[in-house]
Amino acid sequence: MNKSPKDLVREEVLALTAYHVGEAGGMVKLDAMENPYALPRNLQSEIAQLVAGAAINRYPNPQAPELKARLRQAMAIPEAFDILIGNGSDELIQIIVQGLARPGAVVLAPDPTFVMYRIYALVNRMRYVGVPLAPDFTLDCARLLAAIDEHQPALVFIAYPNNPTGNLYPEADVLRILQAAPGLVVLDEAYHAFAKKSFMDRLGGHPNLIVMRTLSKVGMAGLRLGYAAGSPAWIGEFDKVRPPYNVNLLTQLVAERLLVHADVLDAQAAAIRDERGRLKAGLERVPGVTVFASDANFLLVRVPEAGKVFEGMKARGVLVKNLHGSHPLLTQCLRITVGTAQENTQCLAALRASL
Ligand code: PMP
Repeated sequence: MNKSPKDLVREEVLALTAYHVGEAGGMVKLDAMENPYALPRNLQSEIAQLVAGAAINRYPNPQAPELKARLRQAMAIPEAFDILIGNGSDELIQIIVQGLARPGAVVLAPDPTFVMYRIYALVNRMRYVGVPLAPDFTLDCARLLAAIDEHQPALVFIAYPNNPTGNLYPEADVLRILQAAPGLVVLDEAYHAFAKKSFMDRLGGHPNLIVMRTLSKVGMAGLRLGYAAGSPAWIGEFDKVRPPYNVNLLTQLVAERLLVHADVLDAQAAAIRDERGRLKAGLERVPGVTVFASDANFLLVRVPEAGKVFEGMKARGVLVKNLHGSHPLLTQCLRITVGTAQENTQCLAALRASL
């Protein structure tokens, strides 16, 4: 008789739950931190021409020199540091974890945070230590430093700002973590465009720091491009783990072109920051709703009954993320991505009607 998946698949994998993405057909989609704005027409045409002429019969250049040069310029990546590119920053997390997955080695992160740190750590048989944030989601730095001391992690992930809470930890705390960590620290700046705070210009002072970002939140989620900057010594090792053609030709070409027009993306991010303020003020006026501080393109809220509000909003055509049940600190919490002005107005009305 054939063996079943239960007989052959590794225990760590059997114990996991797949990353869930809700069905959003026709709804106002405020569940995945996407940029809600389309590209201007002239840019759409530029991209159409670029794609039409692309040599898709050839493999892409695995080192993507033009794209990296463009990233370096647009994102002010210092010359002394190398760049690792990924099929989304999800893949970079996977690559970095794989590179450090010695038996018994520890991945440590504040908790709750982006779930893929844990999933990739466990799949690669590392030990994952989640250090609880305070109940208001601020960083309990003393507790984190004590955990670093106790577990001596090979790898620390700090999402800056954090997902799903949206807050930015104090710079001084991140510096303390960088000093205390015995291994590599990956500062995940996926939401940097909305926080305007970064450690990119501090790479020089911290040999064990990698700054990781993504283009997903600034209008290119569908392209899948993440990048990480760090010392040639670290990046060189991780580049060996990276599948050689991980970033496809169309992504390379289109991202490169869009980075030439970084002003368009910057203007969209600025509009999202403005809308975040308006949405936050609107949510704060709803009785019974607690809104947490956010430097990202989403807001974490606590409502009296998250399940009921989530379903009610969905029935009214607005999809958000229900986090209730995903972590003890996230009881009755929803995560709402900032949309366009019209979408946010619709979201507020749907939420009020669903309480
Ligand atoms: N890091 C953080 C903190 C995130 O929230 C996300 C997306 N949810 C990612 C990384 C992955 O993004 P992507 O793979 O689209 O680059």
